[in-house]
Amino acid sequence: MGLARKPLLLLMIDFQKLAEILTNNKTFLITTHVNPDADAIGSEVAFYQLLRMLGKEGKIINHSATPYNLQFLDSDSVVEKYDAAFHSTLFDSSDVLVALDFNRADRMVSMQKAFSDSKQVKICIDHHQDPEDFVNFQFIDINYSATGHILYDFIKSTDIVKINKEIAASLYAAIMTDTGSFRFERTTASLHRIIADLLETGINPTEIYDQLYDESKLSKIKLLGRCLNSLQLIAENKIGYMLLTQNDFREIEAIESDTENFVNFILSIEGVKLGMLFIELKNGFKVSFRSKGKLPVDKLAGIFGGGGHTNASGARFRDAKMQEMIPKILNEAEKFLNNYIEG
Ligand code: 5GP
Ligand code: MN
Repeated sequence: MGLARKPLLLLMIDFQKLAEILTNNKTFLITTHVNPDADAIGSEVAFYQLLRMLGKEGKIINHSATPYNLQFLDSDSVVEKYDAAFHSTLFDSSDVLVALDFNRADRMVSMQKAFSDSKQVKICIDHHQDPEDFVNFQFIDINYSATGHILYDFIKSTDIVKINKEIAASLYAAIMTDTGSFRFERTTASLHRIIADLLETGINPTEIYDQLYDESKLSKIKLLGRCLNSLQLIAENKIGYMLLTQNDFREIEAIESDTENFVNFILSIEGVKLGMLFIELKNGFKVSFRSKGKLPVDKLAGIFGGGGHTNASGARFRDAKMQEMIPKILNEAEKFLNNYIEG
C-alpha cells in the first residue's frame, strides 16, 4: 500500500471574480480545444446550463465536431462546429469569450484569429500547465483533476446555482475521464466526495461509462489492432511508440478521435516509462506523450511547441512529414529520458 494521498490545496482561483463576470454580463461565447474530450465538452455543456439557469445567453462553438461518443453530453445539440462565414460576428457581439479546458490560443486552430482579434472580455478556466497570456482573466489551477472539477468547486463555493442532474452528468463525465476513471494522481478522498455528491443527483455511472467507452464503432477496434501492431520498444524497452498513417484511417474508415486512449496501452507494458503515439493528419501529424511516475512529458512536448500535463501531453506539427520527423522525435525522447534518469 502506498501512502494516503494528501488533500491538495485548492485556493488559487478567485471564484468571486468569476461569479461577478457572470452576473455583470449577458451573452457568452464558449469554446474549447481541438479534438475535444469529455472534460472539454462536459465543461462546456455544464457552463452553458449554468448560464441558462442564471437567465444568460450562451453559445458553444468549437473548431472540431463533437466526437460521436460524446454526443450524449449534448442532448439538446447546442454545440456548433465553427464556420467562419456564419459565426465570425459573434466574437465581437458576445459580452464575454470563455475558453474552457485549454490555455493556449493555438489550441483553437481555425478560431484562433477571430478569438485573438476580438476586443471583448476573455476568460480562461483550465487546469493545464504553462498558460499563455491570451485572455483578460485566468481561472487556472493545475492542481485540479479536470476543468469540470473547477466548475464544481466554483458552483459549490459561490452557490451560484443548484447542481441539477444534467450538470452533474456533464461534470461526472469530465472528472471521470480526466482522472483515467479515478486512478490518476489527482484522485483524492475529497474528489471521491465530490463524485458522491454528483451521484446523489441521480445520475447513472454505468450508463455514462457505457456511452463513453462501450459504444465504440467497429472501425475504432480495427484501428486499435493496427495501432498495436505498429508497437516498437526502444531505449532498453523504456520507451514504446506506435504510429497510425492516413492510409490506416482511410482503409478502416476511422477518424482521429477514434484513437483516444490507444497510447495508454504502451504504458501497460512492464518497464516502459514513456509512451508515444504518432498520428498522421491531413496536413501534418500529432504526437501523444504519456509517462509513468514523475517523468514530466509536458516538458518533452514543449520542445516541439506542445504541452499538457506531467503524465499526458501532446504536440501538433503542421505541414510536416511524420515519417521524416519520427527518428528526430525518438532521439529527443531518448535524450530526455536519459537526462531525467541521470539528473
Ligand atoms: P492527447 O495526447 O490526448 O491529445 O493530449 C494529452 C494532453 O496534452 C491533453 O491534456 C492536451 O490538452 C495536451 N495537448 C495535446 N496536444 C497539445 C498541443 O498541441 N499543445 C498543447 N499545448 N497541449 C496539447
Ligand atoms: Mn481537462
